[in-house]
Amino acid sequence: MRLNPTTTTLLTFACLLLAACSGSNDAKRDPEMASAQRIAAHMAFLADDLLEGREAATRGHEIAARYMASQFQALGLEPAGDDGSYFQRVPLLQGERLADGARFELIRDGRIESLAFETEFLPGVNYDQPEFALSAPLVFVAQGVVAPEFDHDDFAGVDLKGKIAVLLGGAPARFANDPRAYYSSGREKMAALVERGAVGAIFVSDPTREKKSPWARGAANWARPGMRLRAPDGTALDTFPQLIATASISADAASKLFAGADMAADAVFAALDAGTLRSFDLPGTVLLAGRARISNKESRNVVARLPGSDRKLAAQNVVFGAHLDHVGIGAAVNGDAIYNGALDNAIGSAVMLDAATRLVAEGTRPKRSIVFVAVTAEEKGLLGSEYFAGHPGIEGTLVANINMDMPVLLTALGDVTPIGIEHSSLKNAVESAAKTLGIALSPDPMPEQVVFIRSDQFSFIRRGVPAIYLKGGTAPIHADVDGKALLDGFLSSHYHQPSDDLSLPIDYAAAARLAALNAAIGRNVADADKAPRWNTNDFFGERFAEQ
Ligand SMILES: [Zn+2]
Repeated sequence: MRLNPTTTTLLTFACLLLAACSGSNDAKRDPEMASAQRIAAHMAFLADDLLEGREAATRGHEIAARYMASQFQALGLEPAGDDGSYFQRVPLLQGERLADGARFELIRDGRIESLAFETEFLPGVNYDQPEFALSAPLVFVAQGVVAPEFDHDDFAGVDLKGKIAVLLGGAPARFANDPRAYYSSGREKMAALVERGAVGAIFVSDPTREKKSPWARGAANWARPGMRLRAPDGTALDTFPQLIATASISADAASKLFAGADMAADAVFAALDAGTLRSFDLPGTVLLAGRARISNKESRNVVARLPGSDRKLAAQNVVFGAHLDHVGIGAAVNGDAIYNGALDNAIGSAVMLDAATRLVAEGTRPKRSIVFVAVTAEEKGLLGSEYFAGHPGIEGTLVANINMDMPVLLTALGDVTPIGIEHSSLKNAVESAAKTLGIALSPDPMPEQVVFIRSDQFSFIRRGVPAIYLKGGTAPIHADVDGKALLDGFLSSHYHQPSDDLSLPIDYAAAARLAALNAAIGRNVADADKAPRWNTNDFFGERFAEQ
């Protein structure tokens, strides 16, 4: 399915192109059009095939990083990286999964049934033990979620000790959106499995997930390397060495895994949809084996600072962030193997640059300092932001994060979706900025996508820093456009595909408005009497903020 741009969008787009070609006389008269042109220009560079999809620790990403640094320099922002430069080195370990040696064998009643590599299963990469083989009994643990505040325990009544846990993704739909997001995180799940003595994990895909993102499409890129942060001693950070073997399997392959069990795979998927999952032991054992090539890599965050004007408040840093990396080169689709990541996230990087341009142009410096960081390795698991949030290397404290990631701006919009607004006093800054600019705020149209933990703001939230993340809206200005359908169409057809490129009908005017809003929010936060605070009894504030 292709997106169906309306005539209006095409006209806006054509006007922008014409303005860009005709020496931008119109832009001189209209600062918003000038902003749209700047964003279009940044994206034209960052999403070009020349940058080969900007995968972390590749030459394409290095070129993109150099571009961001040059733009920061041109704006007169201070370098805030290592050794007085704009660059912060991020030490990484790269893990390349090898097909040779991968095995998934179900052993029941003396019979062995093998799942097929790629079409049915993919082994995980073990950064602590690159070559692994594990044979153990199985236990199904629903979605692997324990949430006392919702009186929910997927591990009740089952014993995980010495077993391979079989689990589904996500968290129960009855949870509120953000706790649901938090409990969906793989990190939380693996920590819970390890705490209960599991030695392996099998992540089972499901039909609903595969309707949006077919197993075969993801699995085709099985050779794309994964990454972890590298500790000074050379080991991987944030791993779970107790989980010796991990694997993912397709929804189809689940029928083999659940054959002869308390519930067949179809019944399990139906219970997932109905919210009535329960845990049970599975018959037989599984032999899981895999191999990976682990190597040292390095990539770079790009960091710049607009120093605050207030002598005291300048040590409080408001951090704008956008990930610059994408997923690189991969399996070809319709003859195209370059995953340009125009919306994911050349647009967020461009919007951040434009917000910086606006803040600098305002002339009066904000009271607090504003830091701009183009982070690497978001696509590898929020690694660049994790590293920056843990080692900012900047004088003072981080008081807020404003993240820009993949706003889907494919038509003129009257609204934006502020993710995380209900958690902190950042709400005031967002609401007043939106009101001034005449932009409506809409609720998250797809809470099941759990985006609050899926982008870089989560690295800051985990360190107690209040964060906000603006997504494009779903309320088109033109009544004949279905905003939700445009968003769904992007997610199902172009997200993490080579077709997320500049041929999409990107609405640069909408991007300019988003930049204006982000800049205004940053200004509000930087000039406010008090630094942002988590709300009382807030879910994330209680978990992560220093009391
Ligand atoms: Zn992405």
